[in-house]
Amino acid sequence: MSHVLIIGAGGVGSVVAHKCAQVPEVFSRITLASRTLSKCEDIARSVKQRTGIRIAVEQVNADDVTATSALIRQLSPDLVLNVALPYQDLPLMDACLATGVDYLDTANYEPPDVARFEYKWQWAYQDSFTEKGIMALLGSGFDPGVTNVFTAWAAKHHFDEIHQLDIIDCNAGDHGQAFATNFNPEINIREITQRGRYFEHGEWVETDPLSWSMTFDFPEGIGPKKCYLMFHEELESLVRNIKGLKRARFWMTFSDQYLTHLRVLENVGMTRIDPVLYQGQEIVPIRFLKAVLPEPASLGPLTKGRTCIGCLMKGIKDGKEKQLYIYNICSHEEAYREVGSQAISYTTGVPAMIGAKMMLQGLWKRPGVWNMEEFDPDPFMHDLNTYGLPWTVVEL
Ligand code: NDP
Repeated sequence: MSHVLIIGAGGVGSVVAHKCAQVPEVFSRITLASRTLSKCEDIARSVKQRTGIRIAVEQVNADDVTATSALIRQLSPDLVLNVALPYQDLPLMDACLATGVDYLDTANYEPPDVARFEYKWQWAYQDSFTEKGIMALLGSGFDPGVTNVFTAWAAKHHFDEIHQLDIIDCNAGDHGQAFATNFNPEINIREITQRGRYFEHGEWVETDPLSWSMTFDFPEGIGPKKCYLMFHEELESLVRNIKGLKRARFWMTFSDQYLTHLRVLENVGMTRIDPVLYQGQEIVPIRFLKAVLPEPASLGPLTKGRTCIGCLMKGIKDGKEKQLYIYNICSHEEAYREVGSQAISYTTGVPAMIGAKMMLQGLWKRPGVWNMEEFDPDPFMHDLNTYGLPWTVVEL
């Protein structure tokens, strides 16, 4: 019986709230707090309608450590579940330290003025969290998140050593819009337009943004799709924690239409993250762009098709070479029927709920700051099958 304080009432926050409400034996009390109270109220209404569970709502600016600490003290939750934006990771970790409450998120901290994807800022909290006797679980979404758990599970049960890891993220869905992103546009575009990076023989190799591609034949009728190499944050922790990895890469599918729009927006300066002066006022172009693009949450009823995200691994077992592929397929329409969101929010929100459940049940519990692959993958893998993200493993 635990009280979870969810921060962030966006696409992912909505899924987390619905999924926590489906597991009242663990999440006996749920509070949803965000910058815009009306968004929390809308989600609370939907949760009540779909599950019969009443959740409390609060307004908070998570950049304000004092205000958030006061809210945490007032509510005394067992866990702060951060599904606001990556910018809020550090202020929320500070608020958890000030109040002695455990912390979970789904994306690594990013400084607003530089698009850097690194765990160094959050790993720096290792000593202070340990001394305070509280825990932070980093990156409990799908990628990062489930992909880390898939790798840890394969390392535990199927390999003596994994030598090559390719994480492949395919959205074979279609929302019918000329250009839209499936999660927060600002965060999404910052990530995609950065330089590519992969790990090989103990070193990071850089590539120009989206300059490398391959075609991968996705299972269960999804078929061949072009995937582009990019850096993704779970690579950084996996190469540290999975012993024997010689190469680790991340790939994502994009349609030609998406890439053409992105190129034009970049070329005309609309994806810039530095402020420009407009009619005497400073505006950040990518933030203005976010304001005119469709809200990811609005894509729920429009998106058809499926996602397929998985890990392709090569390594050795009992002296023999082995190749394994573990993946989940998630339907946009089924996610929408169940919780009113498309599959990108769903595949992030479900693992956030499961990560929280692992912590609150004491299955994953250790003071300090941890990535997903540092815990026993078995109970998490079990819960993926139970709570809406069933996985398949095939030996190739
Ligand atoms: P949205 O933009 O839809 O939602 C973000 C929410 O956070 C909004 O409700 C926003 O409030 C709120 N928020 C922003 N700033 C503050 C603040 N200072 N104080 C309080 N609330 C704030 O994003 P998503 O739901 O799509 O994404 C949520 C997180 O999930 C992101 O960090 C994203 O990177 C991560 N993610 C992780 C994935 C994974 O697989 N690991 C995949 C997809 C997303 P307002 O409504 O007022 O703007």
